[in-house]
Amino acid sequence: MIRLYNTLTRQKEAFTPIHEGKVGMYSCGPTVYWFAHIGNMRSFLFADVLRRTLELNGYEVKQVMNITDVGHLTSDEDEGEDKMIVAMKREGKTAYEIAEFYTAAFKKDLDSLHIKPANIYPKATDHITEQIEMIKSLEKNGFTYQTSDGVYFDTSKLAEYGRLSGQKSGEKKAGARVDMGEKRNATDFALWKFSATGSDRDMEWKSLWGVGFPGWHIECSAMSLKYLDVPFDIHTGGIDHIAVHHENEIAQTMGAEGVLEANVWMHNEFLTVDNGKMSKSLGNLFTVDELVAKGYDPLAYRYFVLGGQYRSKLNFTFEALTAAQNALNKLRNTIRSWPMSGGVGCADLENEFLSALNDDLNTPQALAVVWKLVDVDLPLEAKAKTLLWMDRVLGLNLESYLGQSIDVPDRVKQLVKEREEARKQKNWKRSDELRNQITQMGYSIEDTSEGTKIQSHVVE
Ligand code: AMP
Ligand code: ZN
Repeated sequence: MIRLYNTLTRQKEAFTPIHEGKVGMYSCGPTVYWFAHIGNMRSFLFADVLRRTLELNGYEVKQVMNITDVGHLTSDEDEGEDKMIVAMKREGKTAYEIAEFYTAAFKKDLDSLHIKPANIYPKATDHITEQIEMIKSLEKNGFTYQTSDGVYFDTSKLAEYGRLSGQKSGEKKAGARVDMGEKRNATDFALWKFSATGSDRDMEWKSLWGVGFPGWHIECSAMSLKYLDVPFDIHTGGIDHIAVHHENEIAQTMGAEGVLEANVWMHNEFLTVDNGKMSKSLGNLFTVDELVAKGYDPLAYRYFVLGGQYRSKLNFTFEALTAAQNALNKLRNTIRSWPMSGGVGCADLENEFLSALNDDLNTPQALAVVWKLVDVDLPLEAKAKTLLWMDRVLGLNLESYLGQSIDVPDRVKQLVKEREEARKQKNWKRSDELRNQITQMGYSIEDTSEGTKIQSHVVE
């Protein structure tokens, strides 16, 4: 039995799929106007672990992840500039070029973190017709009104509004600034925004209401309807999406289709950096590529994220990432002597591992079971078999290390020798420089009483 915490009911529930043996899952994807940061990647890693856990339980999962390439304003409250236009101005490119470039960068990040690709990545701009059709249904059902700047959803018309966040129509959290404009209720939101007169938007479309572009929330309701049908099983995203984006998605699907969009709503907590919010101005907003440039393996970040349960805040520091890298190296080096072939898995530890994951994705507990496996007295074949099975969720590419002796290139061996010399001469600066060079080449070193140990930490 899989138990998952459902934000909608505010409790852990036994998961029952709508169609036996199958799971339809929608994960809110990136807004492709800039590189995804490691906080965003936590959200996608969480969805990946969820999907892999469902698959390990034998479900066939269809995962849809949208690519927001239009209509997400810099504020969730339908204010500010369109994020894509901000990027166009910054980079002197067309909105379509921006979207293409950052979508490719995003997919590269997914790949390097071993996040399984979704079955479909629908783009908002490819589904304008579907979004317009949904707004038409909402209009027909009496949920919309028009102002001078767009078509809005009237949240007071939907009795269930606020079910996810507990924030009813017209209410906004104390302190939240709402520019009402011509809106009727503080929680009302744009379904379609008109292009401002004289604005030179790359991305705008004709509609029966006027030339403009869709609001941010409508794409997820329209595309989940198209690719999964509603209701579907599970919807994922970060906790920042609960109050506005997901509440509004639910409202749109309920208003247009008369059903709940998804049965289970799951949200990951935030990744903080040095116990604070990540931001460009604080200089603590990192991308996966930046971690790699500092000599880390992207899978060390994956290991680090697995070390926190998705509903707990996770604090990123480079010390913690180094600890994750070292633990991963240790695991890889341990299993180099484990044979690849044959063997029967250890049922007890497999059950323990699965029970941890099936308890609302308790990944720290699952990792503890991996280390238990390392220490347990069992034939190495059995250990190897069990570990490979566990890696179907862990996604740490452990198969590449099982039974593989380390093959260190001559150049790395040479650098290690030079570093030993530098250390003898107490030239710490040179020694550090050499360590950095070795790290850049994908190897890490450990100074032990028997000399320098070399470990590979690149994905081979
Ligand atoms: P965005 O591209 O801004 O829509 O964000 C993509 C995903 O990352 C969303 O599900 C957000 O909720 C999530 N997210 C944003 N910042 C963080 C963070 N610091 N930690 C974890 N998830 C985040
Ligand atoms: Zn969404």
